[in-house]
Amino acid sequence: MGQIIDGKAVSAKVKEEIRLETEKLKEQGVEIGLAVVIVGDDHASQVYVRNKEKACETVGFNSFKYALHAETTEEELLDLVKKLNEDDRVDGILVQLPLPKHLDDKVIINNIRPDKDVDAFHPVNVGKIMIGDYSFLPCTPAGVMELIKSTGTDIAGKECVVVGRSNIVGKPQAMLLLHNNGTVTICHSKTKNLKEVCSRADILVAAVGRPKMITADYIKEGAVVIDVGMDRDENGKLCGDVDFEDCKDKASFITPVPGGVGPMTIAMLMRNTLTAGKAHHGIE
Ligand code: NAP
Repeated sequence: MGQIIDGKAVSAKVKEEIRLETEKLKEQGVEIGLAVVIVGDDHASQVYVRNKEKACETVGFNSFKYALHAETTEEELLDLVKKLNEDDRVDGILVQLPLPKHLDDKVIINNIRPDKDVDAFHPVNVGKIMIGDYSFLPCTPAGVMELIKSTGTDIAGKECVVVGRSNIVGKPQAMLLLHNNGTVTICHSKTKNLKEVCSRADILVAAVGRPKMITADYIKEGAVVIDVGMDRDENGKLCGDVDFEDCKDKASFITPVPGGVGPMTIAMLMRNTLTAGKAHHGIE
């Protein structure tokens, strides 16, 4: 059986490093703050926001939560973003997505100051990722990179296949693998012979949103398999894009869902917030 990559343990380690650094900063009178904005009462978003608040507490950041009602207008939300952009206590701003339908995610994100955009969704930060000039790493793909690193795998020269090309996961994931000298293929819904392409991968990252779509016949013997998916199976149980039971014996390393990529995303958000805070205080 392949080794299971313990996302909870890796994320706990990352958060502990951040906590120690935050403690040192506090001794110098520097405090780090994250503002989290949630609009409406979407249950999943509320859980995510609560987890982000908890993570702030763990690492010693100040967190400022703004819960706005579902009918909030674009103007009201932009007013808040503007206030947070100017608030010196706030180093990072996170607007929880998806927003209610009447609000345009893009308009809101484009109005967050790039140096406070700890989700790395602002076009300035997306552009920086393309050229390898990282202020902030995109949280989920950066978490995936930490998990690959934790296996001791050297990405250089490896065949890497990313299934999914979304702006928040697939595309930035491919860029990070490329910057680490992987030979990268990006697959999507129009890819022909997906199974064949995936089975060439030394490192396979699935970010599709289709429960248990990747079965053992998609993976190469000994591949590192990272499952970004957060899906529901036929019984409504949380699962990934990878059929874990089917693939675990063929992979050399594999992430479970839950307990794989999920915890890493929040840890990377904390890291970006620390990076932002240090930059705001002129600390290297
Ligand atoms: P998304 O925006 O819906 O993108 C899905 C991608 O998968 C698209 O590029 C799509 O191709 C491709 N795709 C769909 N069906 C396919 C098929 N049959 N064969 C090959 N490719 C196919 O999703 P996302 O936001 O990237 O999220 C993907 C998954 O990751 C979801 O389960 C989501 O919940 C999860 N997620 C987890 C975290 C975390 O922290 N763990 C964070 C973000 C997302 P086209 O472009 O051609 O449509």
